[in-house]
Amino acid sequence: MHELNEDWEANGHPSHHTLEDYEGGVARWCPGCGDLAVLTAVQRICRDEQLPPEKVVAVSGIGCASRFPHYMATYGFHGLHGRALPVACGVKARRPDLDVWVATGDGDCCSIGAGHWIHAIRYNMNITVMLFDNQIYGLTKKQSSPTSPIGLTTNTHPEGIFLPPLNPIQATLGFTNVSFVAQTVDWNPLHLHATLAAAHRHRGLSFVRILQRCPTYTANLYDELQKDPTKVLMLTHENGIGGDPALGRVFTNQGVHDPSDLRAARILAEQIDPLPIGLFFQDESCPIYDDFTNEGLAMPIEARMEALNRELDRFLV
Ligand code: SF4
Repeated sequence: MHELNEDWEANGHPSHHTLEDYEGGVARWCPGCGDLAVLTAVQRICRDEQLPPEKVVAVSGIGCASRFPHYMATYGFHGLHGRALPVACGVKARRPDLDVWVATGDGDCCSIGAGHWIHAIRYNMNITVMLFDNQIYGLTKKQSSPTSPIGLTTNTHPEGIFLPPLNPIQATLGFTNVSFVAQTVDWNPLHLHATLAAAHRHRGLSFVRILQRCPTYTANLYDELQKDPTKVLMLTHENGIGGDPALGRVFTNQGVHDPSDLRAARILAEQIDPLPIGLFFQDESCPIYDDFTNEGLAMPIEARMEALNRELDRFLV
């Protein structure tokens, strides 16, 4: 930390932020919950990138993961169920200078919020979306979610789930104007950090599905992937997720995938054994909605009032 301070000041910056500047209290998630690892990764990225805390906004809907904004010492908005994405888009539309992080769950995003999910991808605003996928409604104590696997017994399916789960990566890759899709796991901090850092650097909406452990309600869901890393296929490419060479020692099962190839990404998304992690797709040439809304923000107040009055005049009867 001391070295960082010296480097930072030597480069002419007036001050630097420590990890503590982003920590907003003790998280009230269950012990062992994967949400804790994601929170730490985001706080470290904020620190590494020296993002001013007052320029960061964490936005969420409803669910366990949606307590995320409470644990960031930044601005935050804990919204309504399924509505994290429209709130985040609204924030970004009016304040393009802010760094917007979205914490949403498999229920929040893929069920009640699914309509917003499709259109947020299409609008491609410059925000980072983290889908915490624990494959269950944890906050309301174990109801089936859209991503719950076949056979899982839940409060809503005591005899076991009979429909196949929704695949969030496959779905997102099918939406119009998709620009960044990646997958990672909460139990490998290096891959998690590298993936979220790449997502944050991306210009446009970055969508990251995080396989998130819920020791309380889906305790054994990811056991096989954790115990046998060859069940995971780490995607590699010069334009993919960079990272520590140590990753290669954990995930020995690797495959080269060019993230500019949407067709190949869609085929990969169907694969579950071994399960691909890394960058599926990236295209920074996609139109970004906030580029257009920002134009209006640069108008002087008189011009804005004139434009507003002109529009209102159209409704005169
Ligand atoms: Fe985490 Fe599951 Fe506990 Fe929710 S119920 S806080 S997802 S471990």
